[in-house]
Amino acid sequence: DNQRIRNKDKHDRATVEQVLDPRTRMILFKMLNHGFINLIDGCISTGKEANVYWGESKTGIELAIKIYKTSILHFKDRDKYVTGEFRWRHGYCRRNPRKMVQMWAEKEFRNLTRLIKNGVSAPNPIYLRGNVLLMDFIGSNRWPAPKLKDAVLKSSKPRKLYRECVEMMWRIYNKSRLVHADLSEYNLLYFNDSIVVIDVSQAVEHDHPMALQFLMKDCTNITEFFRKNDVAVMSVKQLFEFITDPTVTEENMDDYLDAVSESVLNDEEFSDPTKIVEVEVFKQAYIPQNLTQVVDIERDIDLAKSGKQDLIYKTLARKKKIKEMQAEKRKVKVKKHVKKRKERLAKKK
Ligand code: ADP
Ligand code: MG
Repeated sequence: DNQRIRNKDKHDRATVEQVLDPRTRMILFKMLNHGFINLIDGCISTGKEANVYWGESKTGIELAIKIYKTSILHFKDRDKYVTGEFRWRHGYCRRNPRKMVQMWAEKEFRNLTRLIKNGVSAPNPIYLRGNVLLMDFIGSNRWPAPKLKDAVLKSSKPRKLYRECVEMMWRIYNKSRLVHADLSEYNLLYFNDSIVVIDVSQAVEHDHPMALQFLMKDCTNITEFFRKNDVAVMSVKQLFEFITDPTVTEENMDDYLDAVSESVLNDEEFSDPTKIVEVEVFKQAYIPQNLTQVVDIERDIDLAKSGKQDLIYKTLARKKKIKEMQAEKRKVKVKKHVKKRKERLAKKK
């Protein structure tokens, strides 16, 4: 075993040298100097966009060190996560790869912070500098927890984990106001008989223009994984509705899920042809996210009330939400106005 670790290290060191540009090395050097890291040893994962290393803090706490690669190549297809997001409305530096990668690292740090704050089980972010992110190591004695896809589960486990996962998805959406957008058995770790969510740099705000499409994909991945593991899962549609239904609260969540699971005719979604069509239509349905996308909301609501048309965005089109969005619009207008006035005044001077 020891020998294996040693050999692995040799190989990893080669990878470290390859990946780390001088600036990244300087960042690590400073982290070592300041005692954030005492030791880096062994590579946990090499990915397209980042490598993850095992480390230890000065106080002996195990760390996961995620180093985002500074080559721009792989980040190109990430535009869709950023475009239209309020937090990045001033644009981001497509032309400066280093800046762009730093932005992704920062995004992961902030999203982790938000998840932790709202009681979602995720690695606690510890420190961020440039493209290097330090977080809690999920695992023990240098052994990282396995991904859910690789975990060896006792036959009774998947059911419990499914429920946990569904509640986690609810919490991410309703408490952290985020959509993971890359959720699957690859980005869930299995640790202490529980799941821990990771890899959240691409997670988007719940009101991102594509948030609900991403959420739908997440629901599909999770449903398919647990269905494969013989869990009597809800349909994708039921899961999606559970997560986005504003009447669900922490208090009534269990009752809601119990009620749904009683009504679940397992596999109905795939065995009944009319269901398949219905689900596909639902998946592709255009789900408006903000006022500008809802051309005539009063008409749509009337139609829905009269039963002539199914109001697919019923849970989102509530008056409160609309008022919020109108207020937001007004705020932006006022801000623009103030800015213009300031500019005019500055010119006069
Ligand atoms: P990417 O998928 O973009 O390469 P991830 O954040 O998913 O990046 O990390 C890659 C792998 O590194 C994960 O699948 C997991 O095995 C491991 N890993 C990531 N973060 C941690 C952590 N905090 N603790 C233990 N292992 C981790
Ligand atoms: Mg991943």
